[in-house]
Amino acid sequence: MNIRHVTVVDPEHEQLLGDRRITLDGDRITAVAADTTEPLRAGDLDGTGLYAVPGLIDCHVHVTSVTADEWGDTALPPSYVTAHALRELRRMLDCGFTAVRDAGGADAGLAEALDEGIAPGPRLHVCGRALSQTGGHGDLRPRGRLHADDHPAVPGIGRVVDGTDAMRIAVREQVRAGASFIKLMLSGGISSPTDRIDGAQYSDDEIRVAVEEAERAGIYCAGHAYTPEAVARALRLGVRTIEHGNLLGPAEAALFAGHGAYYVPTLVTYTVLAEEGPRFGLPPQSVAKVAAVADGGLAALGHAHRAGAPIAFGTDLLGQMRGHQPREFALRARVQPGWAVLRSATTTGARLLGAAGTLGVIAPGALGDIVLTRHDPGTHVELLADPEAEIAVVVSRGRLAVSR
Ligand code: ZN
Ligand code: ZN
Repeated sequence: MNIRHVTVVDPEHEQLLGDRRITLDGDRITAVAADTTEPLRAGDLDGTGLYAVPGLIDCHVHVTSVTADEWGDTALPPSYVTAHALRELRRMLDCGFTAVRDAGGADAGLAEALDEGIAPGPRLHVCGRALSQTGGHGDLRPRGRLHADDHPAVPGIGRVVDGTDAMRIAVREQVRAGASFIKLMLSGGISSPTDRIDGAQYSDDEIRVAVEEAERAGIYCAGHAYTPEAVARALRLGVRTIEHGNLLGPAEAALFAGHGAYYVPTLVTYTVLAEEGPRFGLPPQSVAKVAAVADGGLAALGHAHRAGAPIAFGTDLLGQMRGHQPREFALRARVQPGWAVLRSATTTGARLLGAAGTLGVIAPGALGDIVLTRHDPGTHVELLADPEAEIAVVVSRGRLAVSR
């Protein structure tokens, strides 16, 4: 397949290359060159007036979250959850997301099914279950009850693991199940009923063991953390991506680059939780927590941007709220220049996923994930918040997936 007469967008160098021909063979890009006057052939895509952007990458999603009630979701049949996940993955593709990282809930089987083409969807990176201490952000047992149903077939975002020995085994089990990273809950959260949002979770020793086991397996740890203390501690102990980080300040923002770590803000989830959370089943004790972190999110992104921290794109929406995913672009554009936001969702996301050069870039040898937009996304990144209007074409895995 060829995409003809298109303007190629290079987020890394903030460059636009006009009238290019992109050639794809199988799931790869094989050539990007100045186009010629040669007439279009059958199967060629006419990109005249359009901008070719590397496929968008969202590094914090929950594809198996059916509702905003994470405990309620654990009672659903796995088949039903999977069916919902496939519909959600298709929706993400419609919005231009051609690679996503699931931060808890999805397993390697789902990623494999997508790779095999059983259903259309983005490339999926999974961690399996997020690991949580008792009473931590991933402990979704009802208050007043202690039974746990951690059978891997039961849907759920988290899994309770306490102590260094158990942590070692749990990380090995996640690796065995095909995790491409390990997710740790390192502070309180919104959706968990029994913890404080500003509480720290897991001991240093437990985190060290997880990081050590993950690194031995050639993967890394991601840490859910809100407070400055939780963020700094996670970075110090070798956690490689910080999720949310809403309350971090300039001091913590300055730590990322030196640790080779990434910041993954998830701004849209707080906006939407405030608007729609209660209607979609978010428990009252969680609604009260939203206010505590909502305002901090934009400020934290500003600190990270000014400190030059590597920032990836994330959204973290649950259940029926996930359709708001593209609004993250508009929120970030309030704080960062358009090119910086675009890099988060392309080149930086690709580096975080360990796919620099194959994702997040339009170049020979890269994978065939390309979005065609109607405007230059470097200066109008906020328009990506309305994909129906802004995104004309999505090419995923070298094939035409969306055409409007
Ligand atoms: Zn989280
Ligand atoms: Zn999350």
